[in-house]
Amino acid sequence: MSTLRDYVQQIENLGRFRQSAPYKPCLLLAVIQLIEHGDIHENKIQLSPNLIDAFTKYTAKFPDWKGKIYNPFYYLKNDGFWYLYPNVNRETQLNSLGRRIPSSIRRLRELIAYAYLDEPFFNLLTQSHEREIIRQAIIEKYFPDRRQAIENVIREEQQIGEHRQLLIQEVTEYPFSYQVRSEPVEAENPVRRTAFRREIMHWYNYTCAVCQLRVVTEEGKSITDAAHIIPFHISYNDDIRNGISLCKLHHWAFDQGLISLNENYEVKVSRLISEEGPAEWRFSNLHNNLICLPQNEILYPAQDALAWHREKVFRE
Ligand SMILES: [Zn+2]
Repeated sequence: MSTLRDYVQQIENLGRFRQSAPYKPCLLLAVIQLIEHGDIHENKIQLSPNLIDAFTKYTAKFPDWKGKIYNPFYYLKNDGFWYLYPNVNRETQLNSLGRRIPSSIRRLRELIAYAYLDEPFFNLLTQSHEREIIRQAIIEKYFPDRRQAIENVIREEQQIGEHRQLLIQEVTEYPFSYQVRSEPVEAENPVRRTAFRREIMHWYNYTCAVCQLRVVTEEGKSITDAAHIIPFHISYNDDIRNGISLCKLHHWAFDQGLISLNENYEVKVSRLISEEGPAEWRFSNLHNNLICLPQNEILYPAQDALAWHREKVFRE
């Protein structure tokens, strides 16, 4: 069985394919980060928006790098600890690819369900001490001149991760409550904002609760916003139960009071709405539709927040 030392050695000898930029180490740092924050909790590494987002955060520190994630995600299979698990009936196609790597995330997702690591390697990464040794080995080997930039990303991500823990704790330990406050808005806090967004996107899987649209770009950007039910500037409330995932269109309509939600999480459409255009896009079609909700009921939008929205914002 391979030991920590063996894996560190393997990582220090990652193959490079024509490019000099270390995309593979950036992907490994992203995977380590997602394991650290519980976004990856089993040995299945999906080409998910949060993985792409994390990868992009590291590569963004190097403006001259133009690499896309599908490159390292595919080629790490040559390094002895990373394997690709094909989708049903795609095994032959995947095996016959060789060096003709699919040149889009979409194509790669059609072929690959997920990547997975050597089981002992994955287990090492779930333990904080060993994880840190591996992470430091990556930085030491591939980013000796850019240590500061990489460590800044890690530190910022750890702050976001800690804030996410607090948001979850709030839900599991306290009933939802809010106060409408009169003080001026606090200075924008990117850690707070990102933590809230990540939690909402995690539980709603980047899907609009109202129309179920899920659109994600190759850079991990999504059509959905983490919307506050009682706006943040009024409630200062980042409780996950004051949040909902909405596409740009339905976020706007929700904030304008053109749609709201009843006690049964069904869409209410304002009678004052005036709309024209293709029938399938009209708000009136949404009336009484049940929205899609997180799997766990404790994360559902709070009834108090929805009641506030119906009373103060909705144009019945
Ligand atoms: Zn929508």
